[in-house]
Amino acid sequence: MPGFEVFGAEERKQVNDVLETGVLMRYGFDGMRNNHWKAKEFEIAFARRMQSEHCQLVSSGTSALTVSLAAAGIGAGDEVIMPTFTFVASFESIMMLGAVPVLVDIDDTLTLDPAAVEAAITPKTKCVMPVHMCGSMADLAALKAICDKHDLLLLEDACQAIGGSYDGKPLGSYGDLGCFSFDYVKTITCGEGGGIITNNEQYKLHADHYQDHGHDHVGNDRGAETHPFLGYNFRISELNAAVGLAQLDKLDGILKTQKHNYTIMREALSGIEGVTFRRVPEGGVENYSFVNFFLPTQELAEKAHKALGKNGVDACFYWFKNNWHYINGWEHLKDLKSLGNLSSDIKNQIQDLNTTDFSKSDAWMGRTVSSLVKIGWTEAQVKDRAEAMKKAIESVL
Ligand SMILES: *Cc1c(COP(=O)(O)O)cnc(C)c1O
Repeated sequence: MPGFEVFGAEERKQVNDVLETGVLMRYGFDGMRNNHWKAKEFEIAFARRMQSEHCQLVSSGTSALTVSLAAAGIGAGDEVIMPTFTFVASFESIMMLGAVPVLVDIDDTLTLDPAAVEAAITPKTKCVMPVHMCGSMADLAALKAICDKHDLLLLEDACQAIGGSYDGKPLGSYGDLGCFSFDYVKTITCGEGGGIITNNEQYKLHADHYQDHGHDHVGNDRGAETHPFLGYNFRISELNAAVGLAQLDKLDGILKTQKHNYTIMREALSGIEGVTFRRVPEGGVENYSFVNFFLPTQELAEKAHKALGKNGVDACFYWFKNNWHYINGWEHLKDLKSLGNLSSDIKNQIQDLNTTDFSKSDAWMGRTVSSLVKIGWTEAQVKDRAEAMKKAIESVL
């Protein structure tokens, strides 16, 4: 998955354009910047690649989620439905606004279970946030039907699945808003950065102002701008945007290599009795950044993961016992360990996550092992790896 593997002359050239002018900011300083508008250019190119009307770049994937929610008018006390398997950014971005995360089970897609989503809807629900984990997507048609029925926002977190598609549409472009991360370990990186896509002109306008202190961005004198509403600073810097512009050009090549390497590993694992694969919803195309598979039981999955490590197969993950991506590791959320006082909406409304039953999620996550797909591997290295994976897994079955 990591775009840092292909960092090179193109990224340096883009950054140098900015360094030569010294205008490290995306706005203003028109006379000094020698016509370089890297963030602007990246936004136009990214919207086009994602077949969307608008893109707003921001400082991270987490801020992309926060700014998206804010742009759609979500605030204190509003409930946002999110999955138990995701990155901590999901609940962070929601709680940042005083809104309330509602965690629900995943299914064999390793993403939101539509039935669990429907069961969690209350009069306070405003948004459903599917997270397309590890290269593949949620059942977006089912989620969209639920959102339409209950008049809810569909906000896709496509941070781990950039370049995948569903129903012929790039992931992130199917819902009302889609979010991406360009942090250092993502499929394309700009060091730190994030992007929002939408076809909704008002959300774009809101996002544009909100991520820059509420400035209206009218005219070319920043000092004279007014503030139609409150905002914060979630801006991307021009240097980061410059890196992203070069990386975006490499996205399709990265996806092609990922698919090639993924296919070799998947074919080897397909030959093992007892190994099955994560379900990809009909009409979905993965971005091939991970191979995700199930062992018959939790015990065997743990053993297989250990055997992979022992046999020198690196970059394999057992998310069930991982501190970042599954509710099992989120003590700080479960016990609401906040430095300062949390908003009363959150304190009053949040589930007791220490006692909520997530056995359905546990049943899938406990059996799941994932292998990262790197792009720098040679053909021979991938083949050796695939064989080593097969051997290690067979040794525990
Ligand atoms: C990386 C990631 C994010 C957050 O991105 P940052 O740029 O690191 O803030 C959000 N959601 C998912 C699923 C991610 O993997």
